[in-house]
Amino acid sequence: MHPVVAKLFSLQKIDQKVALAQKKLDSLPRETEDRKKKLKKLEGELALLKERCKEIEVQVASLETKVGAIETGIKKQEAYLNQASSPSEYEAARHQIRYLQRDREELQNEQLELMEEQETLNPKIAALEASVAEEKETFQAFLVEAESLRAELESKKQEVADERKAKADEIPSEFLLRYEEIFASREGTAVVPAERRYCSGCFTKLTPNDWAMLANGTNKVLVTCRTCGRFLFDPDSEPAEPAEPAKPAKPAKPLESAEPPASPQSSQSTSEAPMESENTEGNNEVQ
Ligand SMILES: [Zn+2]
Repeated sequence: MHPVVAKLFSLQKIDQKVALAQKKLDSLPRETEDRKKKLKKLEGELALLKERCKEIEVQVASLETKVGAIETGIKKQEAYLNQASSPSEYEAARHQIRYLQRDREELQNEQLELMEEQETLNPKIAALEASVAEEKETFQAFLVEAESLRAELESKKQEVADERKAKADEIPSEFLLRYEEIFASREGTAVVPAERRYCSGCFTKLTPNDWAMLANGTNKVLVTCRTCGRFLFDPDSEPAEPAEPAKPAKPAKPLESAEPPASPQSSQSTSEAPMESENTEGNNEVQ
């Protein structure tokens, strides 16, 4: 592996860890909001049911008053009945009593319906109260957990920051900048293996020349994908970590260089991977 690519690759491992931690951190506020909403919804439903219960109580009480007034009226009519001085007076009082009794029955039926409704509400309220209590508990536990996760992730980020800086300092700034751009725009993969001669980032096939640069084990040329710009390495040729801290490569060489190696300035890489085809079908290097 080209020494710069090796360094970028190990930098990428750190950056991916940090990115993952960041993603989790970013998801916390939204999850908090979602849970809050859920709790609010349950509390809203509960409040509505309780309100309906109160309404019913008020209505039942008002009906009770009306029934009382009617009963007074009935008693009055019964008194007229007893004191009636003529059959027509008697008949009128009886008539009134029947009317009042009918009214009373209607009001009492209404009362009964309301009380039945209240009875069906009570278990619903109890169930909702239990759900709200449970959800509140879950939410509290989540908040505590989220806080400790946040602290843990922040300290993890802090921890790797120094390590990252040390690694980044070893990389020539033009490659580092390029790497950071690609890392940000290509979903956290800026250094990828060339699997079966394809860029495993965008699945573009490498030119035979580029593949030769990667796989010949000399690592003199830094190869990047001509389509997506990612830094490439041959996964079969060597370990990812550089064997020793390399001097920053001279940034003179063009990034997408694909000319045959000109100078034999051998890198410190330990790899001797021969130029071999990965699959035994032979060399189908036709572009
Ligand atoms: Zn690519």
